[in-house]
Amino acid sequence: MTTAVMPTYGRIDIAFERGEGAYMYDTEGRKYLDFATGLAVLCLGHSHPHLIAEIQRQAATLMHTSNLYNIPGQERLAERLVANSFADTVFFCNSGAEANECAIKLARRYHHTNGNPERYRVITFNDCFHGRTLATIAATGGEKVLDGFGPKVDGFDHVPVGDFEALQAAIGPQTAAIMIEPIQAEGGVMVVEDTVMQNLRQVCDDNGLLLIVDEVQTGMGRTGRLLAHEWSGVTPDVATLGKGIGGGFPIGACMATSEAAKGMVAGTHGSTYGGNPLAAAAGNAVLDIILADGFIENVERMGALLRSRLEDVCRRNDSVIHEEVRGRGLLLGIKCRAPNMDLVTAMRGHGVLVPPAGDNVMRMLPPLNIEERHIEEAIAVLEEVCRELGQ
Ligand SMILES: *Cc1c(COP(=O)(O)O)cnc(C)c1O
Repeated sequence: MTTAVMPTYGRIDIAFERGEGAYMYDTEGRKYLDFATGLAVLCLGHSHPHLIAEIQRQAATLMHTSNLYNIPGQERLAERLVANSFADTVFFCNSGAEANECAIKLARRYHHTNGNPERYRVITFNDCFHGRTLATIAATGGEKVLDGFGPKVDGFDHVPVGDFEALQAAIGPQTAAIMIEPIQAEGGVMVVEDTVMQNLRQVCDDNGLLLIVDEVQTGMGRTGRLLAHEWSGVTPDVATLGKGIGGGFPIGACMATSEAAKGMVAGTHGSTYGGNPLAAAAGNAVLDIILADGFIENVERMGALLRSRLEDVCRRNDSVIHEEVRGRGLLLGIKCRAPNMDLVTAMRGHGVLVPPAGDNVMRMLPPLNIEERHIEEAIAVLEEVCRELGQ
């Protein structure tokens, strides 16, 4: 297809017309169960009435002012994130990559403010994903994202997750921070063990480093906790958010302790749109639902149900998929024997949208408010797909 859009994406030839709850309808009227949610974005599913109402109300009142002025909705969103997390302070932007850019800048400013401007390097991990800006592709690493984009932004050192010898060897007088995803989602839904997270905290404390957790995909209740690092009991210095925080409206956020953020004073960082009244209304509407009694507990319950049903399917179909379900809450993946794209394509053919992930994994990222019947529907289709591919 020739198109006026820059062809940076390999697109699937479907266009969707509308969404309702856990379902989307394409322009030909076909119905799909959405277990991809625009890559963990639509945490409340499609067309959630409260999110719609709040966005409509704010759009008709005041869409944008500027960060030159006070923005009460942004203040309220920050206060609520702070009240429900380790953080003392929040910067708003418009995407996950920008949130990570803020975290990297914050870490450099922290050491600069402490009189150690030479400490600017960030340790990241093999198979990570942190975004597509110049700094975040360097943080991510690998030819796939770096190829052809010129000199790599300096200041990132990669080590394997859980390899403490390599980690110790990578830490030098220039190291400023360690940045990790609590679950390496794009990399293949690989959960970072709680003990590994605890060790990273210790290493940061021993070496005066900031611990940054990239919660762009794992945050906002996805794993059955508001933020996924809570599972490990570890307190980070910085956490980044994106994807689910706006429920479909583009928002990013970088949360930090006031100590870690002490260099981020007036004039050091900014974003034209970041946390504007419309974005803040969307973020607050999402929090209204996610922070309501029982919502996140229900994510944990539905996650456990989906996981056990996936494990059943895996056991019965071990020629197509491994007996290995990965992830936490409603960020789950199954390791495939057949090419993962064969499963993803076959699932879509049967009306269920799921994304792939690295390491030949098929991911499941349903809306956080799914019901048992949606799980049963997806599982029945997966069973059918395994039967077909196993023949
Ligand atoms: C998606 C993602 C990003 C990048 O977010 P964008 O909004 O696409 O910039 C960064 N980190 C993680 C862990 C992600 O899953």
